[in-house]
Amino acid sequence: MPRNLRQLAAGQPCYLRLQGCSHDREQTVLCHIRRGGIAGVGQKPCDAAAFPACERCHGIFDGRYRSSYTRTQLDAEALRALCQWLAYCWEREYIIPGGLAA
Ligand SMILES: [Zn+2]
Repeated sequence: MPRNLRQLAAGQPCYLRLQGCSHDREQTVLCHIRRGGIAGVGQKPCDAAAFPACERCHGIFDGRYRSSYTRTQLDAEALRALCQWLAYCWEREYIIPGGLAA
């Protein structure tokens, strides 16, 4: 049983699936979205603002690998990936319905 989102992401399929995706579950890790002022220099956003991605797609999204994608296209793909990942987590109750109730 995974104890956190990082552990849950390990071994998942790549949710970004860009051109050149390796589809290698062995290298899948959480890919963080640095938007909305939730991350500073050397500071990662929280693990809720992230989705599983293979090493290749993660590198393209973070700008470590060159690609023909624009930042706007990458952001749109990341939004799709995040929504699909959240749906996966919701359906399996990793995000607990009613969890915000006091
Ligand atoms: Zn990928």
